[in-house]
Amino acid sequence: MRAFQNILVTGGAGFIGSHVIRHLLNSHSELKVTNLDVLTYAGNLKNLADVEVSFGAESLNPRYNFIKGNICDKYLVLNLFKTEQFDAVIHLAAESHVDRSIENPMTFIKTNIIGTAILLNSAREVWAQQGSENPFQDKLFFHVSTDEVYGSLGNEGLFTETTAYDPRSPYSASKASSDHIVRAYHHTYGLPVVISNCSNNYGSHQYSEKLIPVMIGKILESQPLPIYGEGINVRDWLYVVDHARAIDDILHRGTVGDTYNIGGLNEWRNIDLVKLLIKLVDSELGRNPGTSDSLICFVKDRAGHDLRYAIDASKLCSELDWQPSVTFEEGLLKTVKWYLAHGS
Ligand code: NAD
Repeated sequence: MRAFQNILVTGGAGFIGSHVIRHLLNSHSELKVTNLDVLTYAGNLKNLADVEVSFGAESLNPRYNFIKGNICDKYLVLNLFKTEQFDAVIHLAAESHVDRSIENPMTFIKTNIIGTAILLNSAREVWAQQGSENPFQDKLFFHVSTDEVYGSLGNEGLFTETTAYDPRSPYSASKASSDHIVRAYHHTYGLPVVISNCSNNYGSHQYSEKLIPVMIGKILESQPLPIYGEGINVRDWLYVVDHARAIDDILHRGTVGDTYNIGGLNEWRNIDLVKLLIKLVDSELGRNPGTSDSLICFVKDRAGHDLRYAIDASKLCSELDWQPSVTFEEGLLKTVKWYLAHGS
């Protein structure tokens, strides 16, 4: 088991990053975390309000530090590596919404590809200067990626860690590209890296453009529930806290140079997921069962919409003894309750 003391988390004000920071600080009392985030529309420091104040205490948390900055700013990033002496990086900062990548691919290419390369370069340069015989000893660059790099499945089969990459949207292509660059830095320079490819996350603190918070908000307001195409696209869904736990396990015990798939063995067609959400939200609001069913409407499909993603996470389960901690129904109910209490 590796031990880290000073971790840089990029994109920590976003949905998954905020859960990763909260989980790490709760689980490792010796750990200090610096959060580098430029606060795009998707970043929100309120996601970390409890973390900033020592988990309920009055004083500021001495183990947490926020820096507002862009991962594409190479001087800022290099300087941060030099002054803060990180021993690990968990890289989550990204443009993450597929629909936005179709509208504006260049932002994705810049942040997701160039930004990742700038982080890798700074880690390589500064870590190499610090060490003597083995410059990268006790260091780790953890790149958080997506199952979308593998492309689209038919009705059968699962993505494994050896599935060939076949990205099909500007988002997934930019993430695939960054994965390749991370591996190249490992093979070429010996930079210690791990990569995880995870399925769709759900849970609290997600920006309201994504399917689950969008639908909860619309069911609450009795607005139409637009579903792409016929609603038959299938995604595997994982509770975000379980993703954070998996990242912690891989960070501390994963094999350097390896890739780990993370998923919930929990495939849902979009239409069935929305029907389940309707059931949960209507029940929480004390409405009669089926009240919101008629709100469902079908809209023109997303361009190049991948039919099905499904993850084989058996490597993570067997090597690192990881399992999801909640069933989908449990996680989704927690999620619905959170959005009803906090707004979506
Ligand atoms: P998010 O959009 O909620 O958060 C992204 C964060 O990155 C935001 O806080 C944003 O301000 C920050 N950011 C964006 N560009 C930046 C830049 N140039 N410099 C510094 N910070 C910047 O995303 P998320 O859903 O939390 O996803 C986090 C990571 O996990 C991404 O790399 C994504 O590809 C990956 N991932 C997400 C999912 C999912 O279901 N959401 C699944 C698998 C993998």
